[in-house]
Parts: sequence; structure tokens; C-alpha cells
Amino acid sequence: MSQIHVISHPLVQHKLTQMRRVDTPSERFRQLLTETSLLLTYEVTRDLPLVSSKITTPLIDMDAPELVDHPVVISILRAGNGLLDGVLQVIPGARVGHVGLYRDHDTLEAVEYYCKFPPLENQTVIVVDPMLATGNSADKAITMLKEAGAKNIIFACLLSVPEGIDLINQKHPDVPIYTCCLDEGLNELGYIVPGLGDAGDRLYGTI
Ligand code: URA
Repeated sequence: MSQIHVISHPLVQHKLTQMRRVDTPSERFRQLLTETSLLLTYEVTRDLPLVSSKITTPLIDMDAPELVDHPVVISILRAGNGLLDGVLQVIPGARVGHVGLYRDHDTLEAVEYYCKFPPLENQTVIVVDPMLATGNSADKAITMLKEAGAKNIIFACLLSVPEGIDLINQKHPDVPIYTCCLDEGLNELGYIVPGLGDAGDRLYGTI
């Protein structure tokens, strides 16, 4: 059974509210998304395995914990890149893959136009996309990752709705979801309500 983790930290909630405001400009939106992704990454990586290594401090030798491996981060284009910047600030050693998916406006299905993954075997893979709406893009990206050999996948987003969560739970019960808020639902165009609009447009000023 998939697990849902809602990041209720006050700093996350405060920044999210600023991002939701219709009059927040792109420059500020980008900055807030990066700041939020630092906090989100902190929670998402809480259970990464550690290994003890012998090191030497200026005073003494000791056994100290280090990451067994750096996770792989997969950005669902284009809005995923808004979260990616912050993730890489905290995990600069992460390898990065990209999945290009666009949403068919009639069917709301996710259609692939680009895919480049680093090696995935035995890696923790963190998929980032700010909006878990219908769940079609997340489902498609996770399916592509599994077909490419990924086994330990985590999905991280800013906003989610029951429709998207249910789809991922049903199709990928092994994939935990980290989200900063669970919103009410989708409107007839597939936008999250109350939401924050089109995350890509808000990020890049393409409205
Ligand atoms: N993608 C977005 O950018 N916004 C939504 O509300 C839903 C999907």
C-alpha cells in the first residue's frame, strides 16, 4: 500500500500560500519553489541508507555515517525543473534524468516527447513534479522508470489531489508520495483547485 506523507511544516505551508497568490510574480514564485524543495527534500530523504566510514577529524579517527549512494532525481518536464534546482542544492551529487511529457488537452493523457535516464539499478529514484493532478504524468513517468529497471521510487510534489493519489496508489502501491498539501480536487480542465494555476507558466512567465 502506498504511503502519503503531507509535509505540514509551517515554513512549507507559508511558502505554499505565497506561491498560490495570483499576484506573486514568476521571479518570486521560482525562488519560493526552490526554497520549498529544499524542505521537501529534507523529508523525502529521511530514510536514505547510511554506511559507516572511518574518517580522520583534526583531533581523532572516528567511524562516521555517509550516504551509501546518492539518489537519482527525475524531473518531469517542464515544471519538475522548478523543484529540481532545490533538490540539487541539497544533494549536489545526485544524477539527474528528465522525462518530457505533455498533456493532451482533450484526453488529459500524458504523451512522451523526451526521455533520458541515468543508470537506475539499485538506486533510490526521486521523481519530482510540482503538481499531482490527474496522476497521468506521474503514472507514465513511474511506469517508464520501472521498465528501465528502477525499483525503489519516491514521488515528490508540491500539491496533490485525491484523483492523482488514488491513481498512483492503485497502479504503483510501492511508491510513496510526498506532498506539501492535499487540495480539494480537479476542475473540468484538469487543474488543481484551489491550486496555484499552471506551475510551468507560473515558473517561467509563459502565461
Ligand atoms: N498542472 C499544473 O501545472 N497545474 C494544475 O493545476 C494541474 C496540472
